[in-house]
Amino acid sequence: MGISLRDTKSAQQYQRALQYLPGGVNSPVRAMRSIGRDPLFVDRAEGAELLDIDGNRFIDYVCSWGPLIHGHAHPEILRVVGAAAQKGTTFGAATAGEVDLAEEVGRRVPSVEMLRMTSSGTEAAMSAIRLARAATGRTKLLKFAGAYHGHVDGLLAEAGSGLATAGLPASPGVPEAATAATIVVPWNDGEALVAATDEHEFAAVLAEPYPANMGLTPPHQGFLELVRARASQNGALLVFDEVISGFRVARGGAQELTAVLPDITVMGKVIGGGLPAAAYGASRDLMEHIAPAGDVYQAGTLSGNPLAVAAGLQTLRMLDDAAYMRLQSITERLATGLRSAAGDRPVQVQSVCGLVTVFFSAEPVVDYETAKACDLDAYGAWCRALLARGVYPPPSQFEAWFPSLAHTTEQLDRTIEIAAAAFAEIA
Ligand code: PLP
Repeated sequence: MGISLRDTKSAQQYQRALQYLPGGVNSPVRAMRSIGRDPLFVDRAEGAELLDIDGNRFIDYVCSWGPLIHGHAHPEILRVVGAAAQKGTTFGAATAGEVDLAEEVGRRVPSVEMLRMTSSGTEAAMSAIRLARAATGRTKLLKFAGAYHGHVDGLLAEAGSGLATAGLPASPGVPEAATAATIVVPWNDGEALVAATDEHEFAAVLAEPYPANMGLTPPHQGFLELVRARASQNGALLVFDEVISGFRVARGGAQELTAVLPDITVMGKVIGGGLPAAAYGASRDLMEHIAPAGDVYQAGTLSGNPLAVAAGLQTLRMLDDAAYMRLQSITERLATGLRSAAGDRPVQVQSVCGLVTVFFSAEPVVDYETAKACDLDAYGAWCRALLARGVYPPPSQFEAWFPSLAHTTEQLDRTIEIAAAAFAEIA
């Protein structure tokens, strides 16, 4: 399988990797199996451009799946990380930088007064649920089909048949008991949401406010408001997973863009500026349940790591209003261009500031069912054609493109020309 030539360095590394890493990678989507080719082996990257170990250049729209909103190897981020490293890479003790970062997040994210840092979004989501369960004294969770909140057992649930069903384990090794308390509801389906919140008492209603893990499927008009209202009526805490949307769709994330405020916010990706960091935050009242202020236990050896904090803080400091206006126009140029490259083909280009998905579907994609109905073979062929011409798109239909502030007009226009050629090739 795959188009890589046997004698490329990448192909050689992949053969080696297959011996030592399951599937040759440390995270599944990197293997590029869903688009039917072998993985990239990266040498280095700068700005919006990435080089593989064979010297092939790509305009990168994966950007490490979201953290690199300023592009690769931004000099200011390298500078602060280098300076932090000179002082020591980890202490397992408090630093002033962590307080600076929490203060900056509190200034930006409307519903967050306090936060706790973790090293990954998975940990942050897992801990947010623990907090919600402790604060409500309830167990059940409501999640939306096609949303991804990291690989914690209780959230690796997929929908059974029916409108709002008890979750089924989405992976072997996840016990049925772990997902039985997770009710899965179709996204953008008000009726199913109302039915589920009438029937069950939830600790938490979890949502990606701009879901991007089934490709970008924005909320319908009024849907987030309904989610907010139903969570409150139910006595559940509303958890927004802003690991992708946070600091990307707007300065304060989706909650600023939509003015719908959650009780708990899960953050990741941009908050670590390209180093491992994530966080969950809420009001002071809620966050003071967390140890040692309260009795809800959660900890981490590398939580608040000084290098990640330096990168995250510098990343946020460079994200002012002008940066968001620029990211918006970069996103629009890309989305509009991809739409015109697709012409009258059965393709939908859906976007919000900093996120784009090209769905191979004749109809708009509004939920997991419509996402799964896309022409995955055509998407795979188009991605292979893009990669062969020097554009690196997300190698799965169920992901978003992450345009960054480093993408130049010339790179965007070249991408659109290449996209048109790739559409023509697969026709
Ligand atoms: N939540 C969302 C919305 C995500 O997209 C992801 C990862 O892509 C996670 C949580 C998990 O984050 P991590 O991969 O850092 O564990």
